[in-house]
Amino acid sequence: MQYDNNKLVSDFLSKSDISDILDSALAGHRLGLKECIRLIKSDDVNSMGFVANLLRRSLCGDTITFINNIILNYTNVCITYCKFCAFYRPPGHEESYTVPIEEIVKRVATSRELFGITQVLIQGGHNPNLKLEYYEDAFRAIKQKYPEVGINGLSPSEVDMIAKVERSSTKEVLARLKDAGMDTFAGGGAEILEDSVKEQISPFKIKSHEWLRIMEEAHHLGLKSVATMMYGTVETEEDRARHIIKIAQLQEKTGGFMVFIPWSFEPNKTQMQSEGKIRYASGGLSLLKMIAIARIMYYGLIDHLQSSWLTNGIGMAQLALNYGADDFGGTLIGEEVVSATGSRSTELTSDKIIVAIKRAGFRAAERDNFYKLIKYY
Ligand code: SF4
Repeated sequence: MQYDNNKLVSDFLSKSDISDILDSALAGHRLGLKECIRLIKSDDVNSMGFVANLLRRSLCGDTITFINNIILNYTNVCITYCKFCAFYRPPGHEESYTVPIEEIVKRVATSRELFGITQVLIQGGHNPNLKLEYYEDAFRAIKQKYPEVGINGLSPSEVDMIAKVERSSTKEVLARLKDAGMDTFAGGGAEILEDSVKEQISPFKIKSHEWLRIMEEAHHLGLKSVATMMYGTVETEEDRARHIIKIAQLQEKTGGFMVFIPWSFEPNKTQMQSEGKIRYASGGLSLLKMIAIARIMYYGLIDHLQSSWLTNGIGMAQLALNYGADDFGGTLIGEEVVSATGSRSTELTSDKIIVAIKRAGFRAAERDNFYKLIKYY
């Protein structure tokens, strides 16, 4: 039997309630808030995924990247008390810790020697006892021994905390961190960039406009960064869409985001779960939908999209590669934030990632901190 592939595709998409948006995306048009809300409200995840996968393929063919890295959660001391966080401990708590600089260097050295890592992702709590020198000394010490290891560091809210401790500006703090060796700005802590959401889940954290302002400052200083989204708490579909658009608007202005990483809230052992606000994670279909929507909305704007194995597991991350994701993320050796929820094992070796990518039907390639390909497997 002969098939007309183009006709099959157009017949398939024409039955969708979002066919006009998908056609527009395939024609390379930039989509706005209204279209984004309609995508989020639609249940046609398969059609979105189909189109997102075509868009991904047009950018990177069958190559899926990953990075060999560690996460260094340098302190769990935090005075911001986010209700979705199982990781932090208040100052003076018996389980609180801060990793000394010698230990930071030792961990980088060990993981470089054992696993050949090319990136260290450094993130932690808002510790009022840590001055800027701690971060500068840590970055310089790493760079002195391992100049080839990229430092992907800190989030806008950590930078804001350091600025408050130093009574300095966030711009000055960023400039000094860059000077000390921070290659890229890791950029977590966005959650949902809508203050009505932040008010409920992280009332003591910086507001949405501050997150965006600090990101913009970093981009102007030449620091490339990561755009994130944590969904699945109290936000509405419109809140999610506005978050996606705010990131797009900043990217149009600065071009500083290298990648978008959506991840789902893991409620285990958090205040939100104990108060009965959110009992369960939002699940796999939500992940596939957010990945597909991100690829469609950011096509031509942000090239890379991470499949989020950390909160959704390897199986879902493999599926996400068929819904628009092009990067498997990192090996994340040493991760402590998500593992504090006890949800699942939160580290992988590069071998396991390579096998997972290949078994999903793609070519695996290791990348560096700036998404430059290092090696195919
Ligand atoms: S998410 Fe970050 S800022 Fe919020 S409580 Fe946890 S460690 Fe602190």
